[in-house]
Amino acid sequence: MRNIFSKKNLKSSVLSFSKKNVGKDLAERIYTSRLIGSNSELVLHGGGNTSVKSKIKDEDGKLVDVIYIKGSGSDLDSIDQSGFPAVKLRPLIELVKMDHISDEEMMRYLKNNLINHKSPNPSVETLVHAIINEKFIDHTHSTAILKITDRPNGIKICKELFGKNFLIIPYVMPGFLLAKKIYEIYQSSMKLHGMILHKHGIFTFGDNAEESFKRMIKAVTTAENYLKNQKVYKIKKIKKTNNRFDPLLIAPLIKSHLCKNENYILNFRCNQDLLDAINSEDIKKFLSKGVVTPDHVIRTKPFPLILNFDKCKNLDVLKKKIMQEIMKYKYNYIKYFKKYNNPKKSFQMLDPIPQIILIQNIGMFSVGRNLNEALVNGDVSEQSIKTIISIEEQSKFESISRKDIFDVEYWSLEQAKLNKIKKPLSGNVVIITGGAGTIGASTAKKFRENGAEVVLIDKDKKKLKNIAENKLYDFYSCDVSNRSDFKKVIDDITATYGGINIVISNAGSAYQSPIADISDSEIKKSFEINFFSHQIVASECVKLMKEQNLGGCLLFNISKQSVNPGKHFGAYGTSKAALLALCKQYALEYGKYGIRSNGVNADRIKSGLLTDKLIDERARARGISIEHYMNSNLLGKQVLPEDVADAFFHLSISKKTTASILTVDGGNIEASLR
Ligand code: ZN
Repeated sequence: MRNIFSKKNLKSSVLSFSKKNVGKDLAERIYTSRLIGSNSELVLHGGGNTSVKSKIKDEDGKLVDVIYIKGSGSDLDSIDQSGFPAVKLRPLIELVKMDHISDEEMMRYLKNNLINHKSPNPSVETLVHAIINEKFIDHTHSTAILKITDRPNGIKICKELFGKNFLIIPYVMPGFLLAKKIYEIYQSSMKLHGMILHKHGIFTFGDNAEESFKRMIKAVTTAENYLKNQKVYKIKKIKKTNNRFDPLLIAPLIKSHLCKNENYILNFRCNQDLLDAINSEDIKKFLSKGVVTPDHVIRTKPFPLILNFDKCKNLDVLKKKIMQEIMKYKYNYIKYFKKYNNPKKSFQMLDPIPQIILIQNIGMFSVGRNLNEALVNGDVSEQSIKTIISIEEQSKFESISRKDIFDVEYWSLEQAKLNKIKKPLSGNVVIITGGAGTIGASTAKKFRENGAEVVLIDKDKKKLKNIAENKLYDFYSCDVSNRSDFKKVIDDITATYGGINIVISNAGSAYQSPIADISDSEIKKSFEINFFSHQIVASECVKLMKEQNLGGCLLFNISKQSVNPGKHFGAYGTSKAALLALCKQYALEYGKYGIRSNGVNADRIKSGLLTDKLIDERARARGISIEHYMNSNLLGKQVLPEDVADAFFHLSISKKTTASILTVDGGNIEASLR
C-alpha cells in the first residue's frame, strides 16, 4: 500500500485549520484521518475510527485531559473538527475498571463526559482508544488484514507476521466487552505499534499522526506481501450464458415482493470483477458463512439472496421463481431471528427481506430505504464478496459465528448508525416532468423534505442543472412528448431506483389567441405538450407500475382553465380539459391495480408559464390591475407555487383518493367543481 503521507501537506493543513481556531493536535488528526478515509482498501462509508489525546480548557478555565474521537455520522474521508467530539479522558479509564455495564449505559456515560453536549455521539469504540496510552490511534477494517484474519489459521499467521509489535486479540464483540478485554491484556510498557483484532480489523498507535499512519500502511503492506506469495487455487465457475432476462425486466418483479411492508430503493450494478465473483459455483456456500467484519451486517444482512435464472424458460417461470426465492429468504431470516433472539431483550425483528440480491450471469441488486443507503449497502457488499472469494482462492473463508453476527445486527448501537427516522414518503421514487419550472422546483422540495427520491425531467438542461446543483435531486434532460426518449429515461430510473411510485405530470405551455384565429400548428402544439405528453408519461409509467404490482400514484397538473375557460386562452383551456378527462380515464381503468390518478387545478401562479408579461396581458383582458388579478379570489390572497406543491403532496398520501381534482386558486366559484 502506497504511503501518501506528506509532511508539506500536513503542515499546510495544520496552518489552514489554525485559522479556524483548530489546535495542532486535532488538525493533524484530521489530516491523516482523511488519508485513511480516502482509501477504500482501509475503510468504506463510515467504517473505522481515529482519535487523538489532548488537553482542553473546561468551563472553569481549567486544563483537562480529553480524547478527540470520531463521532457517529461522519465519514473519515470528509471529516473535520465538528466530527471529533472531545470526551474527558480520566472518567473513561475509571469506567473500564468496572466489572460490567451495558453498552447503552456506556454510551450514556460517554455522552455525560462530552466537553460540548451538542457534539455528535462518540464512537462505540471510544473506550478502546481511551485505554491505549499513545497519543494518536488509527483503526481500520483493512481488506488485506481481514483476508488473513478471516481464515482457519488466521491468528497463527498474524502472530508470525506481526507478533513482535502487535497484540493479537481473539474475536470479542465491539463495545464494553472488547474494551475490557484489551484493558486486561494491554500494558503501556509493551511498546506496541498496534493490535490486530481477529475477524474485525487493525489498530495502530503513535506519538504523532505520521507515526500511527505509517505503522498502519506498513502493517497493511506486510499483509499484502504475505497474500501475494500464497498459492492461488482456481475456483470453479458456472457456465457463462447470455442474459435471457434484462435486469430492467427483473427489477419491478423483485420490487413487487420486496416492498410489501415498506417501500425500498433497488439499485442495480454489474461489472466484470463482480460478475466473476458471483459466478463461482460455490458462491452460496461461501457467502452463507457470514460477514468479513462485524459492522458489515447492518449493510448486508447475515446472508444475501443468491439467484440463478439460467434455467427459467419464460417470463412466467421467472416470475414464479422470484416469488418463491424471496419467500424462502424471508422464511430463513425469520428462522434465524427466532433462533438467536433473546426473549429478555424483546428485539423487534427487522423487515425479513434480503438487502443484497445476487443474480449469477446478471449482476447485483442492493436494497435501501433511500438511494444513498442502497448504494452504500452495494459498495460494502461488493467489496466483501471480492474479499471472501480472494480468501477462498487461497484457503477457506471463516466468519464470526451466526450468534455473534446476530448480536451485532441487533445491537442497539449498530442500529442507531442507521438513521431510523422514517418520513411519510421514504423509499418512494417520484418523477416530476416540467421539473425545471417554478412549480416543479417547489414540488421537488416538498417531496424531498418528506423523504422521497426525486427525479426531475425537463427539456431545459441548463435550468435543470441549476436546480439540481444542491445534489438533492437526480435529473434528466428529455422532451416528454417524444415517447422513445422518455422510455430511455424510464429504463435508467428503473436501473438506478428499481421503479417509480409517484408521477407528477407537470410539463405545460400556454398559448394565447382568439380561438378562431389560432393557427392549426399552434393548437396542435398546445395539445402536444398539454395533453399528449401527459399521455406518454402516464402510459409508460403505468406499464411499469403494473409490473411492480405495488399500486402507484399519477398526479396531473391540470388547470382551472379545464372547467372555467378564459378569453383568448382556448388552445390552452381545451387541451387542459382533455387532460382532465385523461386523468379520470386512468383512475377508471387502473384503479383495480391500486393505481390512483388525481389532478390539481391551480390558477394564477407566477411561474415560467405565467410570466410577468402574460400576467399583464391577462389582467388587461379582464380590465383589472395586475395586483387585483393576482389576488382576485375568495380568500383575497396570492397563490404560490408552494401551495401547488402542498396539494400534490396531500394527494400523494391520500391513499383512498382517486379521480379527484384539488383546486388551488384561492377560491373561485366559477372554477369550483360540481
Ligand atoms: Zn471496528
